[in-house]
Order: sequence, then structure tokens, then C-alpha cells
Amino acid sequence: VTRSGLQDTIAAIATAPGSAGVGIVRVSGPHALTVADRVFRGKRAPSRTPGGRFLFGHLLDASGEVLDEGLCLIFKGPRSYTGEDVAEFQTHGSPAVLARVLQATLDCGARPARPGEFTLRAYLSGRLDLAQAEAVLNLIEAQTDTARRQATLGLSGALGDRVDGVARGVTRTLAAIQALLDYPEEGVPDEDRTLPLTQAESDLRALLASARAGQVATRGARLALIGRPNAGKSSLLNALLGYERSIVTPIAGTTRDYLEAAVELAGVPVTLVDTAGIRETGDAIEAAGVRQALSLAGAADLVLALEDGSTPREALPADLSGARVIHVRTKADLPGAWTDPAALDVSAVTGAGLPALRDAIQAALLGDTARGEAWLTTERQADAARRALTHIQAAQTLPDDLAGYELEEALRALAELTGRDVQEDVVDAVFRNFCVGK
Ligand code: GDP
Ligand code: ZN
Repeated sequence: VTRSGLQDTIAAIATAPGSAGVGIVRVSGPHALTVADRVFRGKRAPSRTPGGRFLFGHLLDASGEVLDEGLCLIFKGPRSYTGEDVAEFQTHGSPAVLARVLQATLDCGARPARPGEFTLRAYLSGRLDLAQAEAVLNLIEAQTDTARRQATLGLSGALGDRVDGVARGVTRTLAAIQALLDYPEEGVPDEDRTLPLTQAESDLRALLASARAGQVATRGARLALIGRPNAGKSSLLNALLGYERSIVTPIAGTTRDYLEAAVELAGVPVTLVDTAGIRETGDAIEAAGVRQALSLAGAADLVLALEDGSTPREALPADLSGARVIHVRTKADLPGAWTDPAALDVSAVTGAGLPALRDAIQAALLGDTARGEAWLTTERQADAARRALTHIQAAQTLPDDLAGYELEEALRALAELTGRDVQEDVVDAVFRNFCVGK
């Protein structure tokens, strides 16, 4: 999809739609500075200005009409984001100005950039590896500080460094095996055979443990509240939100549909889903709501299973096996009818137990993944890491000649993770998720 026309000069509006103080039109490619010479009039021609400088002046269309005044930033390849010559026009950030400036660059022979094409060019020119390109996307889309921090770490190449460390261990064993392949009676010494692979395996396991946290931090998590009618679902949702959103009512069975609310919990963008009360019911609409509640719970990253602590306990008529569940005993401010050490006592009325609940949610969503380390943030990365792990495990039990083959496969999977050795369609799938202008 994205492969033809990579020699073209491309242009796009890089800033978000709508009005803003400043807007940016970005041009990249072999003729970027020639295009800039024609649409921008300042003290000097952009093409005769050193890279890393900017000019103040006017943006013009082909007829010479002044579109706006603004800045032209000049970057000369390979020292630019894309690795090519780049001109960036900073204008007043109105859609009208930006549309005309973009059109002026197109009239000078640039073509509209495809989604992610600037970053694709950065990747193809070797400025970024694929994991870094994914980090760019994650950084653009970061909704929370956790997501931002992970994306920044990924962009810095920290993830690539972790992967390279694993690859070095694998390479060491592979080299030792290959060196001794013709002398099988010698045997590869343990320090080259067992130790590097044990280390590589444990490093990869740690990396994979971060994958869930990384994906949750980036794309957010769905958290379903389930429980019998009147268990206190809507009240707890409101308490977590900190403001009134669900309809809280003492009449059982009010929340027949479900309701979603977005909130940031533990640095993670969380969608709270308030479901219809779960119970055996004759009412057809309510029965549908209950079925929906159960399927919402199944699709959630985490389920809060609520049971009223002030009335005698009845088992939830729901099969929650397979789901991640936090059990909550609600209405903890009222005299308790039962206790359960496996359930968290929470009162939506007094707020007691809410901090402990937030901590439990954080632990369930992010695990004990170290915050300062780079995580795997996409399913593509996790898949490559899983395959590498399988090959490394196989290599540990196989005779040297077969182990060598497994280690080569492991190295291929690791190279795929960072994007140094990866199929075109995989790359295209990554860049399809980008917006135009990045
Ligand atoms: P839902 O049907 O599960 O959504 O339950 P609601 O949130 O609508 O609450 C049902 C009833 O229990 C309402 O009368 C609430 O005021 C009451 N309730 C909910 N949470 C608490 C709590 O923590 N303490 C007390 N005392 N009452 C609560
Ligand atoms: Zn409710």
C-alpha cells in the first residue's frame, strides 16, 4: 500500500484539525526546499539557508497572493525527521490558512502524504526502528502520563536496547555452537551454551510480562462492574469517577442498559462499564440486560464483582472463571452481614476502601512491571517476543546442530521485533494506524 511513490515530495498538515494558535504544514522529499522557495518569501530563499535554521516571511500561492505570514523551518537530509530535506511552515493555525498553504505546496508539485508516511520514511531511511515508529504513534495518541512515559522510552530506543541484549546472548551461544559443529566431541562449554540462553530466556520473560501492562497503558482498559441489582454498582462507579454519572436509585433493576464512563486510574485510561444487575429474572428486557452484562464482563480486561455486604450473601449467578476479577464487598459503612478476606471492603458513601481498590486495580492492570523500563506496547511486538522465546526454549533441550537452527529463528524473531528484519506487509500494517501529517 505505502510502497510506491517513496521518491515523491510529500506534504501534509501536521497539526490537529480545528483552530489553534499555530498550525504546521510539513513538506519532505527531494524537492521540499524547491517547493519552499516557491511558496515562501523571506529574507533568503529556503534552499540557500543552512539546515537547522528558520526564516520569517510570507506564504504565497501560485498567483502571488499572500496567504499568511509565518515561519519556514529548514532541515537538510539526512539530519531531519524523515532523513530527507524537510521544510515546515508554521502559520496561524486556522483551517482556512492551513488548507491554502497545503494547496500551494501541492500546486508546486508535492503530493499529499499518506497516513504515517513521514514516519515511514524515517523508518526506511534507518532513522527509527519499527519499535520506535510504533512509539511515535503511541506518543501521538498518549492519553495519560503512563502512556506518554512508555512511548518516550520506546522512542529513545530503550526497547531496542533490551531486545539487543537478548539477541547478544543468543548470538554468543549460536557462535559457540557453529564454531564447534565440526568437533562435536569437544562439546560447547556451559558458559557459552547454557548460561547465555538461561539469561536470554529470563530477560524475554520479563519483557513479555510487560506486554500486558504496555498494551493496557497505551490503548487503555475496560473495567466492568457486575453484581446483583442494588449491589451498589452505580454508586461505586460514581465514587470512582468522582462525579455523578450513572443513575443511582434504590429500585432494583434500573440500570437495564449499560453505561460507560472514561476515567484515568493509576495512569491508565480506563473505561468503566456499569452493567445491568445480574440475577435470574423473568422480565425479558432485564434478562437481555443480564446477558449483556455477562458478555461485557467477558470482554473486559478486569471485572469488579460487587456483593452487598449489608445483606446475607448470595452467590453471583455468573461464571467468572477466565476473567480477572476483584471481589468487592460493598456498603462497608453499614453493619456487615458477612465477611470474606478475599473481598475488598468498600463504601461508596464514605469512600472507605476506595484507595485500596484503586491499588488493586493498578496491580491487576499493570502488574509489578518496573516503571522505568521499556515495555512491549503492541501485539505485534509481543507476538515476535513470544516466538523468540519458544525458539530459545527449544534450543535449550536440543542437540547442538538442531539448537543452532532454533537460535537462528530466535534471532530472526528478535530482529522482527525491532523491525530490522521484517516483512513489508507487517510494516505497512504498522503505518496504516498513523494519521496524515506524521
Ligand atoms: P446498583 O443497582 O448495583 O447499581 O446499585 P446502586 O448503586 O443503584 O445502589 C443501590 C442502593 O444502595 C442505593 O439506595 C444506594 O444509595 C445504596 N448504596 C450503594 N452504595 C452504598 C454504600 O456504600 N453505602 C450505603 N450505605 N448505601 C449504598
Ligand atoms: Zn445501577
